[in-house]
Amino acid sequence: MDSRADRSAIDHVIETVEKMGLKATAIPGAQRVAIGITGNRGTVDPAGLENLPGVLEVIPVSAPYKLVSREVQPESSRVRIGAVEIGGDRLVVAAGPCAVESEQQTIEAARAVAAAGAALLRGGAFKPRTSPYSFQGLGLEGLKILAKAREETGLPVVTEVLDTETAETVAEYADCLQIGARNMQNFSLLKKVGKLGRPVLLKRGMAATIEEFLLSAEYVLAEGNRQVILCERGVRTFADHTRNTLDLSSIPAVQRISHLPILADPSHGTGKRHKVIPLSRAAIAVGADGLLIEVHPRPEAALSDGPQALLPSQFADLMNQIRALSIVMGRSV
Ligand code: PEP
Ligand code: MN
Repeated sequence: MDSRADRSAIDHVIETVEKMGLKATAIPGAQRVAIGITGNRGTVDPAGLENLPGVLEVIPVSAPYKLVSREVQPESSRVRIGAVEIGGDRLVVAAGPCAVESEQQTIEAARAVAAAGAALLRGGAFKPRTSPYSFQGLGLEGLKILAKAREETGLPVVTEVLDTETAETVAEYADCLQIGARNMQNFSLLKKVGKLGRPVLLKRGMAATIEEFLLSAEYVLAEGNRQVILCERGVRTFADHTRNTLDLSSIPAVQRISHLPILADPSHGTGKRHKVIPLSRAAIAVGADGLLIEVHPRPEAALSDGPQALLPSQFADLMNQIRALSIVMGRSV
Protein backbone atom coordinates (compact mmCIF):
# COMPACT_ATOMS: atom_id res chain seq x y z
CA MET A 1 0.00 0.00 0.00
CA ASP A 2 1.05 3.57 -0.53
CA SER A 3 2.58 5.07 2.64
CA ARG A 4 -0.29 7.60 2.71
CA ALA A 5 -3.02 4.93 2.45
CA ASP A 6 -5.36 5.21 5.43
CA ARG A 7 -7.16 2.51 7.40
CA SER A 8 -10.27 2.61 5.23
CA ALA A 9 -8.24 2.09 2.04
CA ILE A 10 -6.48 -0.88 3.67
CA ASP A 11 -9.77 -2.35 4.88
CA HIS A 12 -11.26 -1.91 1.42
CA VAL A 13 -8.43 -3.89 -0.18
CA ILE A 14 -8.79 -6.63 2.44
CA GLU A 15 -12.54 -6.85 1.78
CA THR A 16 -11.98 -7.00 -1.96
CA VAL A 17 -9.44 -9.82 -1.59
CA GLU A 18 -11.80 -11.73 0.69
CA LYS A 19 -14.63 -11.32 -1.81
CA MET A 20 -12.33 -13.02 -4.33
CA GLY A 21 -12.38 -16.03 -1.97
CA LEU A 22 -8.78 -15.42 -0.85
CA LYS A 23 -7.14 -14.58 2.45
CA ALA A 24 -5.65 -11.16 3.17
CA THR A 25 -3.14 -10.45 5.94
CA ALA A 26 -2.16 -6.87 6.74
CA ILE A 27 1.57 -6.66 7.48
CA PRO A 28 2.61 -3.32 8.98
CA GLY A 29 6.12 -2.23 7.95
CA ALA A 30 8.32 0.72 8.87
CA GLN A 31 7.19 2.78 5.89
CA ARG A 32 3.98 1.20 4.72
CA VAL A 33 1.52 -1.61 5.16
CA ALA A 34 1.77 -4.65 2.90
CA ILE A 35 -1.19 -6.93 2.37
CA GLY A 36 -0.23 -10.57 1.92
CA ILE A 37 -2.64 -12.53 -0.24
CA THR A 38 -2.77 -16.29 0.23
CA GLY A 39 -5.12 -19.13 -0.58
CA ASN A 40 -4.77 -18.79 -4.35
CA ARG A 41 -3.99 -21.94 -6.35
CA GLY A 42 -2.60 -20.13 -9.39
CA THR A 43 -1.61 -16.56 -10.11
CA VAL A 44 -4.04 -13.83 -9.07
CA ASP A 45 -5.05 -11.38 -11.78
CA PRO A 46 -3.74 -8.05 -10.45
CA ALA A 47 -6.22 -6.02 -12.52
CA GLY A 48 -8.95 -6.03 -9.85
CA LEU A 49 -6.58 -4.78 -7.16
CA GLU A 50 -4.12 -2.49 -8.88
CA ASN A 51 -6.51 0.42 -9.24
CA LEU A 52 -8.04 0.35 -5.77
CA PRO A 53 -7.41 3.54 -3.77
CA GLY A 54 -4.13 3.39 -1.83
CA VAL A 55 -2.64 0.45 -3.73
CA LEU A 56 0.95 1.18 -4.77
CA GLU A 57 1.81 -2.06 -6.56
CA VAL A 58 0.80 -5.71 -6.82
CA ILE A 59 3.84 -7.99 -6.55
CA PRO A 60 3.53 -11.71 -7.29
CA VAL A 61 5.57 -13.71 -4.76
CA SER A 62 7.48 -16.38 -6.59
CA ALA A 63 8.53 -18.47 -3.57
CA PRO A 64 6.24 -21.27 -2.30
CA TYR A 65 6.23 -19.63 1.15
CA LYS A 66 4.63 -16.20 1.25
CA LEU A 67 4.07 -14.72 4.70
CA VAL A 68 7.51 -15.72 6.00
CA SER A 69 9.21 -14.28 2.94
CA ARG A 70 11.08 -11.00 2.66
CA GLU A 71 9.25 -10.49 -0.61
CA VAL A 72 6.15 -9.79 1.49
CA GLN A 73 7.94 -8.15 4.43
CA PRO A 74 11.43 -6.81 3.68
CA GLU A 75 12.17 -5.69 7.26
CA SER A 76 13.31 -8.25 9.81
CA SER A 77 10.63 -9.28 12.30
CA ARG A 78 11.01 -8.80 16.01
CA VAL A 79 9.21 -11.34 18.13
CA ARG A 80 8.43 -10.69 21.78
CA ILE A 81 8.42 -13.35 24.46
CA GLY A 82 7.21 -11.54 27.55
CA ALA A 83 9.42 -8.46 27.73
CA VAL A 84 12.20 -10.07 25.68
CA GLU A 85 12.52 -9.08 22.05
CA ILE A 86 14.14 -11.47 19.58
CA GLY A 87 15.44 -10.28 16.23
CA GLY A 88 16.48 -6.82 17.37
CA ASP A 89 19.96 -5.63 18.36
CA ARG A 90 20.07 -7.75 21.46
CA LEU A 91 21.36 -11.32 21.24
CA VAL A 92 18.94 -13.49 23.17
CA VAL A 93 20.04 -16.63 24.97
CA ALA A 94 17.49 -19.20 26.13
CA ALA A 95 19.05 -21.62 28.59
CA GLY A 96 18.10 -24.32 31.05
CA PRO A 97 17.91 -28.07 31.37
CA CYS A 98 16.86 -30.40 28.60
CA ALA A 99 14.08 -31.72 30.81
CA VAL A 100 12.37 -30.52 33.96
CA GLU A 101 13.28 -33.31 36.37
CA SER A 102 12.41 -31.84 39.76
CA GLU A 103 11.67 -28.49 41.33
CA GLN A 104 15.11 -28.30 42.88
CA GLN A 105 16.98 -29.11 39.65
CA THR A 106 14.93 -26.64 37.62
CA ILE A 107 15.09 -23.74 40.08
CA GLU A 108 18.81 -24.29 40.54
CA ALA A 109 19.38 -24.27 36.78
CA ALA A 110 17.06 -21.28 36.32
CA ARG A 111 18.85 -19.23 38.97
CA ALA A 112 22.23 -20.05 37.47
CA VAL A 113 21.30 -19.13 33.91
CA ALA A 114 19.52 -15.94 35.04
CA ALA A 115 22.57 -14.87 37.04
CA ALA A 116 24.81 -15.47 34.02
CA GLY A 117 22.62 -13.33 31.77
CA ALA A 118 20.21 -15.67 29.96
CA ALA A 119 17.06 -13.85 28.80
CA LEU A 120 14.79 -16.89 28.64
CA LEU A 121 14.44 -20.14 30.57
CA ARG A 122 14.12 -23.36 28.55
CA GLY A 123 13.14 -26.81 29.83
CA GLY A 124 10.95 -29.63 28.59
CA ALA A 125 7.96 -30.84 30.59
CA PHE A 126 6.81 -33.07 27.72
CA LYS A 127 9.81 -34.77 26.16
CA PRO A 128 10.00 -36.38 22.71
CA ARG A 129 12.21 -39.42 23.36
CA THR A 130 13.50 -41.89 20.82
CA SER A 131 12.76 -44.77 23.19
CA PRO A 132 9.39 -45.24 24.87
CA TYR A 133 11.28 -46.47 27.94
CA SER A 134 13.26 -43.25 28.39
CA PHE A 135 12.12 -40.49 30.76
CA GLN A 136 9.14 -38.83 29.09
CA GLY A 137 9.04 -35.67 31.21
CA LEU A 138 6.96 -34.67 34.22
CA GLY A 139 4.07 -33.34 32.11
CA LEU A 140 1.70 -30.98 33.94
CA GLU A 141 3.82 -31.11 37.10
CA GLY A 142 6.78 -29.98 34.99
CA LEU A 143 4.80 -27.02 33.65
CA LYS A 144 3.98 -25.97 37.22
CA ILE A 145 7.65 -26.17 38.15
CA LEU A 146 8.55 -24.00 35.17
CA ALA A 147 5.96 -21.42 36.26
CA LYS A 148 7.59 -21.39 39.71
CA ALA A 149 11.02 -20.95 38.17
CA ARG A 150 9.68 -18.01 36.16
CA GLU A 151 8.30 -16.44 39.32
CA GLU A 152 11.62 -16.98 41.03
CA THR A 153 13.83 -15.54 38.29
CA GLY A 154 11.56 -13.37 36.14
CA LEU A 155 12.67 -15.28 33.03
CA PRO A 156 9.96 -16.06 30.47
CA VAL A 157 9.62 -19.79 29.81
CA VAL A 158 10.13 -21.68 26.53
CA THR A 159 8.87 -25.26 26.62
CA GLU A 160 8.00 -27.92 24.09
CA VAL A 161 4.51 -28.75 22.96
CA LEU A 162 4.47 -32.37 21.91
CA ASP A 163 0.96 -32.85 20.57
CA THR A 164 -2.33 -31.12 19.86
CA GLU A 165 -3.99 -32.80 22.87
CA THR A 166 -1.75 -31.06 25.41
CA ALA A 167 -1.13 -27.83 23.44
CA GLU A 168 -3.67 -25.72 25.30
CA THR A 169 -2.42 -26.82 28.70
CA VAL A 170 1.17 -26.02 27.71
CA ALA A 171 0.05 -22.63 26.38
CA GLU A 172 -1.50 -21.80 29.78
CA TYR A 173 1.91 -22.07 31.44
CA ALA A 174 4.45 -21.26 28.73
CA ASP A 175 5.49 -17.88 27.35
CA CYS A 176 6.72 -19.53 24.16
CA LEU A 177 5.78 -22.86 22.60
CA GLN A 178 8.64 -24.92 21.22
CA ILE A 179 7.96 -27.24 18.30
CA GLY A 180 10.68 -29.86 18.32
CA ALA A 181 12.68 -31.15 15.37
CA ARG A 182 10.64 -34.35 15.25
CA ASN A 183 7.42 -32.36 15.00
CA MET A 184 8.53 -29.79 12.43
CA GLN A 185 6.19 -31.33 9.89
CA ASN A 186 3.37 -32.23 12.26
CA PHE A 187 0.96 -30.08 10.32
CA SER A 188 -1.98 -30.35 12.69
CA LEU A 189 0.27 -29.23 15.54
CA LEU A 190 1.58 -26.31 13.46
CA LYS A 191 -1.99 -25.20 12.74
CA LYS A 192 -2.86 -25.59 16.41
CA VAL A 193 -0.04 -23.36 17.64
CA GLY A 194 -0.94 -20.94 14.87
CA LYS A 195 -4.34 -20.57 16.49
CA LEU A 196 -3.11 -20.44 20.10
CA GLY A 197 -1.47 -17.08 19.44
CA ARG A 198 1.55 -17.64 21.70
CA PRO A 199 5.06 -17.05 20.32
CA VAL A 200 6.42 -20.21 18.69
CA LEU A 201 9.99 -21.47 18.58
CA LEU A 202 10.16 -23.76 15.55
CA LYS A 203 13.12 -26.11 15.35
CA ARG A 204 14.43 -27.37 12.04
CA GLY A 205 13.69 -31.02 11.37
CA MET A 206 16.74 -33.24 11.31
CA ALA A 207 16.38 -33.89 7.58
CA ALA A 208 14.54 -30.74 6.53
CA THR A 209 15.54 -28.52 3.65
CA ILE A 210 15.33 -24.75 4.10
CA GLU A 211 12.22 -24.72 1.92
CA GLU A 212 10.51 -27.34 4.10
CA PHE A 213 11.58 -25.46 7.24
CA LEU A 214 10.10 -22.19 5.97
CA LEU A 215 6.92 -23.87 4.75
CA SER A 216 6.41 -25.24 8.26
CA ALA A 217 6.74 -21.72 9.64
CA GLU A 218 4.31 -20.59 6.94
CA TYR A 219 1.68 -22.92 8.46
CA VAL A 220 1.83 -20.96 11.71
CA LEU A 221 1.72 -17.54 10.04
CA ALA A 222 -1.10 -18.67 7.76
CA GLU A 223 -3.22 -19.21 10.90
CA GLY A 224 -2.66 -15.58 11.87
CA ASN A 225 0.23 -16.03 14.29
CA ARG A 226 3.25 -14.05 13.11
CA GLN A 227 5.28 -14.56 16.30
CA VAL A 228 7.59 -17.28 15.03
CA ILE A 229 11.26 -17.74 15.88
CA LEU A 230 13.23 -20.30 13.89
CA CYS A 231 15.95 -22.47 15.37
CA GLU A 232 18.76 -24.35 13.62
CA ARG A 233 19.53 -27.43 15.71
CA GLY A 234 21.60 -29.57 13.37
CA VAL A 235 20.80 -32.16 10.75
CA ARG A 236 21.68 -35.82 10.28
CA THR A 237 24.80 -36.51 8.28
CA PHE A 238 27.42 -39.29 8.05
CA ALA A 239 29.53 -37.48 10.67
CA ASP A 240 30.11 -39.58 13.75
CA HIS A 241 32.21 -37.09 15.71
CA THR A 242 29.06 -35.15 16.51
CA ARG A 243 25.42 -36.00 17.38
CA ASN A 244 24.14 -33.83 14.52
CA THR A 245 25.86 -31.52 12.08
CA LEU A 246 25.02 -27.97 13.14
CA ASP A 247 24.33 -26.41 9.76
CA LEU A 248 25.41 -22.85 10.43
CA SER A 249 25.21 -21.98 6.75
CA SER A 250 21.43 -22.32 7.06
CA ILE A 251 21.37 -19.14 9.15
CA PRO A 252 22.42 -16.65 6.45
CA ALA A 253 20.48 -18.77 3.95
CA VAL A 254 17.28 -18.32 5.97
CA GLN A 255 17.97 -14.66 6.71
CA ARG A 256 18.34 -13.93 3.02
CA ILE A 257 14.82 -15.14 2.23
CA SER A 258 12.87 -14.78 5.47
CA HIS A 259 12.26 -11.91 7.88
CA LEU A 260 11.82 -14.28 10.84
CA PRO A 261 14.44 -14.27 13.63
CA ILE A 262 16.61 -17.37 13.93
CA LEU A 263 18.46 -18.90 16.88
CA ALA A 264 21.09 -21.63 16.90
CA ASP A 265 21.08 -24.64 19.22
CA PRO A 266 24.66 -25.91 19.55
CA SER A 267 23.60 -28.28 22.36
CA HIS A 268 21.51 -30.59 20.16
CA GLY A 269 23.62 -29.52 17.20
CA THR A 270 26.71 -31.18 18.62
CA GLY A 271 25.52 -33.42 21.46
CA LYS A 272 28.89 -32.96 23.18
CA ARG A 273 29.66 -30.51 25.95
CA HIS A 274 33.15 -29.59 24.71
CA LYS A 275 31.76 -28.50 21.35
CA VAL A 276 28.96 -26.28 22.65
CA ILE A 277 31.00 -23.15 23.41
CA PRO A 278 33.02 -23.12 20.14
CA LEU A 279 29.89 -23.69 18.03
CA SER A 280 28.03 -21.02 20.01
CA ARG A 281 30.72 -18.51 19.11
CA ALA A 282 30.49 -19.57 15.49
CA ALA A 283 26.69 -19.24 15.49
CA ILE A 284 26.88 -15.68 16.79
CA ALA A 285 29.61 -14.85 14.27
CA VAL A 286 27.46 -16.17 11.43
CA GLY A 287 24.63 -13.86 12.45
CA ALA A 288 22.24 -15.86 14.62
CA ASP A 289 19.84 -13.75 16.69
CA GLY A 290 20.68 -15.80 19.76
CA LEU A 291 21.23 -19.26 21.20
CA LEU A 292 19.40 -22.14 22.82
CA ILE A 293 21.68 -23.81 25.35
CA GLU A 294 21.18 -26.78 27.68
CA VAL A 295 22.50 -26.27 31.20
CA HIS A 296 22.25 -28.73 34.09
CA PRO A 297 23.53 -28.33 37.65
CA ARG A 298 24.63 -32.01 37.64
CA PRO A 299 24.89 -33.23 34.05
CA GLU A 300 26.14 -36.68 35.11
CA ALA A 301 22.79 -37.28 36.82
CA ALA A 302 20.61 -35.76 34.05
CA LEU A 303 17.62 -37.81 32.88
CA SER A 304 18.13 -36.63 29.30
CA ASP A 305 20.90 -35.10 27.21
CA GLY A 306 23.45 -35.00 30.06
CA PRO A 307 26.49 -35.32 27.73
CA GLN A 308 25.64 -32.04 25.99
CA ALA A 309 24.61 -30.01 29.06
CA LEU A 310 26.93 -27.23 30.16
CA LEU A 311 27.72 -26.83 33.84
CA PRO A 312 26.49 -23.49 35.24
CA SER A 313 30.09 -22.24 35.42
CA GLN A 314 30.66 -23.13 31.77
CA PHE A 315 27.47 -21.32 30.84
CA ALA A 316 28.67 -18.19 32.65
CA ASP A 317 31.93 -18.44 30.69
CA LEU A 318 29.95 -18.79 27.44
CA MET A 319 27.92 -15.67 28.24
CA ASN A 320 31.12 -13.70 28.82
CA GLN A 321 32.45 -14.83 25.45
CA ILE A 322 29.16 -13.91 23.76
CA ARG A 323 29.30 -10.47 25.37
CA ALA A 324 32.77 -9.91 23.91
CA LEU A 325 31.67 -11.15 20.49
CA SER A 326 28.51 -9.07 20.49
CA ILE A 327 30.62 -5.91 20.25
CA VAL A 328 32.27 -7.18 17.05
CA MET A 329 28.83 -8.05 15.69
CA GLY A 330 27.39 -4.62 16.53
CA ARG A 331 24.90 -6.17 18.91
CA SER A 332 24.31 -6.31 22.66
CA VAL A 333 23.52 -9.08 25.12
C1 PEP B 1 15.01 -30.02 23.07
O1 PEP B 1 15.16 -28.81 22.82
O2 PEP B 1 15.16 -30.50 24.21
C2 PEP B 1 14.74 -30.97 21.95
C3 PEP B 1 14.13 -32.12 22.16
O3 PEP B 1 15.21 -30.51 20.78
P1 PEP B 1 15.07 -31.10 19.29
O4 PEP B 1 13.61 -31.12 18.99
O5 PEP B 1 15.83 -30.11 18.47
O6 PEP B 1 15.70 -32.46 19.28
MN1 MN C 1 17.55 -31.92 24.91
